[in-house]
Amino acid sequence: MTGPAPEIKSRPDWNNWKWQVSNTQSTRAQLASFLNTPSLTDGLSRVIEKYPWAATPYYFSLIDTHDAQDPIKRQCVPCEHELDFSLPGSDPDPLAEKSHSPYPGLIHRYQDRVLVIATSRCFSYCRHCNRKRNWNAGNTVPTSADIKKMVQYISARRHIREVIISGGDPLTLSAEMLDRMLHDLRKADNVEVLRLGTRVPVVLPMRITKELTTLLKAHRPLWINTHFNHPRELTDDAASACDRLLCAGIPVSNHTVLLKGVNDDVDTLRSLFTGLNRIMVRPYYLFHCDAAKGTDHFRTSIETGVRIMQKLWGETGGLCIPRYVVDLPAGGGKAPVMPSFLLHSDGNTAVFRTSEGRIVKYRGALGAGGNV
Ligand SMILES: *Cc1c(COP(=O)(O)O)cnc(C)c1O
Ligand code: SF4
Repeated sequence: MTGPAPEIKSRPDWNNWKWQVSNTQSTRAQLASFLNTPSLTDGLSRVIEKYPWAATPYYFSLIDTHDAQDPIKRQCVPCEHELDFSLPGSDPDPLAEKSHSPYPGLIHRYQDRVLVIATSRCFSYCRHCNRKRNWNAGNTVPTSADIKKMVQYISARRHIREVIISGGDPLTLSAEMLDRMLHDLRKADNVEVLRLGTRVPVVLPMRITKELTTLLKAHRPLWINTHFNHPRELTDDAASACDRLLCAGIPVSNHTVLLKGVNDDVDTLRSLFTGLNRIMVRPYYLFHCDAAKGTDHFRTSIETGVRIMQKLWGETGGLCIPRYVVDLPAGGGKAPVMPSFLLHSDGNTAVFRTSEGRIVKYRGALGAGGNV
């Protein structure tokens, strides 16, 4: 594991997250300077008007500036393809979240869990984000009155047992607001667990301070889901941030989005998932890239995803293998896509093709029925 060059890291304040936030790159001039051009093209100007940009100095420093197709750069530096709306199916709200929203900021798509949009702000804006439609909507942090309404909604539906706090990135909230929100959401006594979705360990690991982990620890059972997409994001700083969460008794799992030109090959994903395993972060989902408007250039085929998963099953252990899922349009929910090992089965025999391509028979298969 590596990370930013030593001369950058030795700057005073580099490890101070507040310094990182106040030195976030987000202006037109900073983008032009990075691209080494006196002024932005009209195309890029239109991109950042529609989809603003921001990257912490830490995340920005991970870019290899000699590589035009650098995977970190592709994730955080705007490009003109974001206004190519040529692929069929692209939608600003690809998962129909709006129509599954009983109250602004609350999304209820599955029976036993709801999702709260805690803010629309992030420390770095991922160009592949499936909620990029919200970036220009102004910050939408729920008020105490909003949370109260959400708690009423949740309390009235006893089958809800989990609240997922997402965004935007909930760890952009002040410690006081976050603490109050986590506390208030628990007022619905049917809530058994909280889950927080955050990219902070990846883009601003220094934000995971001792004070923050102490705060989070007080709200256990609390799970964290983070979002590493490339092995180069697994720096020493990121590993330490995850370790601080784990040592506070907070399990950390990971979502990866399958992104063309970033991680859509076996070697990159093997190295990412085994790297996560090494820092004790569980690969949870590999998401097929949603058909979010403004992300067409990141979409690859489902066949590519299946082929990668098939290889991984043959090569590495179960703790390194996430579930590959397609989040279906129109609010159809997540559909797992498994490489197919079972070729055929009847009352007596099930026929499999192994990951190396051998045909193996399992005899005494019970056929239809069983104990289900
Ligand atoms: C993905 C998602 C969840 C969480 O689903 P899990 O399968 O439990 O990770 C919950 N609510 C919404 C709206 C989601 O999109
Ligand atoms: S951190 Fe999450 S919500 Fe924020 S821009 Fe990235 S993908 Fe979107």
